[in-house]
Amino acid sequence: MRTPSSLEELIAALRCLPGVGPKSAQRMAYHLLQRDPEGAAGLAAALTAMLARVRRCEKCNNYTEEPVCSLCSSPRRDPAQLCVVEAPGDLLMMEQAQCYQGLYFVLMGVLSPLDGIGPKEVHLDRLIQRAADGVVREVVLATNFTVEGEATAHYIGEAMRARGLKVTRIARGLPVGGELEHVDSGTLAQAVIERREA
Ligand SMILES: [Zn+2]
Repeated sequence: MRTPSSLEELIAALRCLPGVGPKSAQRMAYHLLQRDPEGAAGLAAALTAMLARVRRCEKCNNYTEEPVCSLCSSPRRDPAQLCVVEAPGDLLMMEQAQCYQGLYFVLMGVLSPLDGIGPKEVHLDRLIQRAADGVVREVVLATNFTVEGEATAHYIGEAMRARGLKVTRIARGLPVGGELEHVDSGTLAQAVIERREA
């Protein structure tokens, strides 16, 4: 028997999810159809609502349902500091750490020329425009300590310095509660290089 075409379409569509191959896409589709049609309806409604409502914040580029997100419009944040992160999850981690009172810009990616991701794809023009509002004084670079993250931080740093802004980079270091002998040598070396007066 041939699979009905709408079911076939669903199986093909489910494969857009990360880590989902043909077999698991098929399992998911039959599960929704046979065991959880209510769940399937909820999923369809949630996807439609998300696509209709979620947009990018005009200021920080993060996902929001308003033109400007609640964080950017909060009077309790310091508008003189702008922290640049790669992804919304990084912003959440920063917020959970409760160590930063300024505003953010979310790149939604990282420079990776080999994958065709250049300054345009990480919204660098918008970041430069955002940082040049006359209120931002310091740009805090909080991209990851990967090759791409470092290159991105360097590139953005140069662009910001050229516009007269103070540029800082979050420090690498030993994990809290970490013991020297259990830390990889690269992290330890960076901690020594970036030591400060005590
Ligand atoms: Zn925002």
